[in-house]
Amino acid sequence: MRILVVEDEQKVAGFIKKGLEEEGYAVDVAFDGREGLVRALDGVYDLIILDLNLPQMDGLQVLREYRRKQGQTPVLLLTVRAAIEDKVLGLDTGADDYLTKPFSFQELLARLRALLRRRAETGSPLLKVADLTLDPARRLVFRGPEKIDLSAKEFALLDYFMRHPGRVLTRTMIGEHVWDYDFDPMSNIVDVYVNYLRKKIDAGREPKLLQTVRGAGYVLQGD
Ligand code: CA
Repeated sequence: MRILVVEDEQKVAGFIKKGLEEEGYAVDVAFDGREGLVRALDGVYDLIILDLNLPQMDGLQVLREYRRKQGQTPVLLLTVRAAIEDKVLGLDTGADDYLTKPFSFQELLARLRALLRRRAETGSPLLKVADLTLDPARRLVFRGPEKIDLSAKEFALLDYFMRHPGRVLTRTMIGEHVWDYDFDPMSNIVDVYVNYLRKKIDAGREPKLLQTVRGAGYVLQGD
């Protein structure tokens, strides 16, 4: 899961980024509205957290422009303005939810999970490859009847694989989706995490689902 945070206040942006990374999300930050819009339109994000008060373009302008260009990703608006007309305007413009500052990190996390769950439920409720099952809404993984415990990062990685079964995913694709824009394509972090994941889902089990495609990347497939 990759999240874009558009927030000019460094402290707030840093606090959100750090907290979300600890939960296993990949997080990019844009510090003004214009940069936020450009990044949002990249289309690689699962969720956008958008502050209303921003330099260059304010949050509502960003949101309006993003929706006008057919951006589909759920947007959670942040604001200090608690006035009801601001909320209505934000929701009318295409925001999916609203959070008034100051907020606790736990509240942010709860809203964000609700948005991702809603999205997962309208998309594909359960992801399945052979006897491997991933439940995005409840964040659970099973191989056959056996529950598999994954770290937040391993879960994010498996989620990405299970949304593209049978397709070869390169290290760059994986890095861009599961890590953030500081991802170094020369590092071996993708291989390291794929190996962790493989140990948990494939070790001692048949068939092996997560395979290396030499010189290309990795593929998750049932047969
Ligand atoms: Ca701000």
